[in-house]
Amino acid sequence: MGAVIIDGKTIAQKVKDEIKGEVQKLRQGLQPGLAAILVGDNPSSAIYVRNKRKACEAAGIYSEEHHLETHTSQEKLLELIDALNHNHRIHGILVQLPLPKQINAESVLERVSPDKDVDGFHWVNLGKLFAGFPSFIPCTPFGILKMLQYHDIQIQGKHAVIVGRSNIVGKPVGMLLLQQHATVTICHSKTEDLPSICRQGDILIAAVGRAKMITGDMVKPGAAVIDVGINRLDSGKLVGDVDFESVSQTAGWISPVPGGVGPMTIAMLLYNTVSSAKRTLKN
Ligand code: NDP
Repeated sequence: MGAVIIDGKTIAQKVKDEIKGEVQKLRQGLQPGLAAILVGDNPSSAIYVRNKRKACEAAGIYSEEHHLETHTSQEKLLELIDALNHNHRIHGILVQLPLPKQINAESVLERVSPDKDVDGFHWVNLGKLFAGFPSFIPCTPFGILKMLQYHDIQIQGKHAVIVGRSNIVGKPVGMLLLQQHATVTICHSKTEDLPSICRQGDILIAAVGRAKMITGDMVKPGAAVIDVGINRLDSGKLVGDVDFESVSQTAGWISPVPGGVGPMTIAMLLYNTVSSAKRTLKN
């Protein structure tokens, strides 16, 4: 029997519809606003930023895009962030990664006010997530949690195995699932015998960036498999880190690429932006 498909597009649309309703209610008082900064001309980044802007417009969120040229200095970028930090129309600031070589991404992410850090990448927000305090949850991990919850996939007491330990996906999704009372194992490039660890996962999350590396023999029968990876094959085809054909025979649930985690990431960015706007009403 094949796995149930976790359809990120449908779930994301539901989240976005809810957000649109929230924005309509809020707009009598204020309109949530998101500023996106894009440095250089990376075509994938340009597509991501455009999709985020379109999603904002559809939800009634004000959005502005700041496109800086590839050779922009770090100082100029930091000045822009400072201005946006003080701009009352803007409740969320997102700096599209990767940044050109002359710019230190950590300094840039640190400069975004933690109160407008809707990507959840600032150390303050990551620290709060790790300590169990309310914070902006990074959008991809947050989207993954929503996908599991949408399908009523049990998290409490279950073993979640995560492959990848980045600060934007692997580590925060591990913390989020730990908060939800999963037993969490985070694997990486030095992990020994990865297949046998993956086979223990009731929930298996692949966030590596290696096409189809998780194969059917690495998956526990009935597991929920979430594929975060985005890899472009020489043919131009977009595939995940999970070999969909073989894994969908073994898994209980599987998220596809495209149409899985990607749309959820954008939906949660909108969610965080609206939460940020709502917070200003409370202050
Ligand atoms: P990083 O490159 O920052 O991290 C990759 C992780 O994979 C590292 O922890 C690395 O280990 C680990 N790794 C590499 N090779 C192996 C291996 N052979 N076995 C086990 N672990 C390995 O990537 P990101 O977390 O930023 O992104 C991961 C993937 O998810 C990418 O394809 C990215 O494009 C995609 N992505 C998708 C998003 C979406 O919205 N759908 C959002 C964000 C990312 P080590 O730490 O030891 O080097």
